[in-house]
Amino acid sequence: MTLNIDSDEDEEEFFKNKPKTKCKICNKEILLISLDFHNKSHSSQILPWLFLGSEQNALDINELNYNNISYILNCGFECEDTSHNNKYSYLKLDIKDLADFDIKKYFNEAHNFINKAKLNSKNILIHCFAGLSRSPSIVISYLMKELKYSYINALNFVKEKRPQIKINIDFLIILKKYENELNEERKFI
Ligand SMILES: [Zn+2]
Repeated sequence: MTLNIDSDEDEEEFFKNKPKTKCKICNKEILLISLDFHNKSHSSQILPWLFLGSEQNALDINELNYNNISYILNCGFECEDTSHNNKYSYLKLDIKDLADFDIKKYFNEAHNFINKAKLNSKNILIHCFAGLSRSPSIVISYLMKELKYSYINALNFVKEKRPQIKINIDFLIILKKYENELNEERKFI
């Protein structure tokens, strides 16, 4: 069967009869066939209390409420302020998605902030612009440092929960090196 839509009315007619569902996060009516695609536009739950997403997700009050978020970690240099006038516990790290950017120097500050949410039993959203490279790198570093995941287990764990991630290769190299550093440190504990 070939799909031939040559006017707006035809298009409307075509979509009208397709099964739809309501997204439980944003309440929008979604074509059932595009539900998977639509779900990827929302943040991903990595741990019961830790979510990973985009700037758009951090600006969406419905989504923040749905996930019961109280802490927001903004990892995007160019991202707008997502503190909602200090309604949320908020930290912004000016991380750039560039090959020679030293993301590692932000790890400790990020981990301390994430631990604050954890200690207070609050949910946190960690985001950059698209939630594909910088913020997943921060989450992976957290899993390695605080939950003692290996590099590959942390990467696969996050990929499983958010398959669309696309981490810049230089950040992956930094994370792999970080694993060696953590192993060295742990030898002396
Ligand atoms: Zn939705």
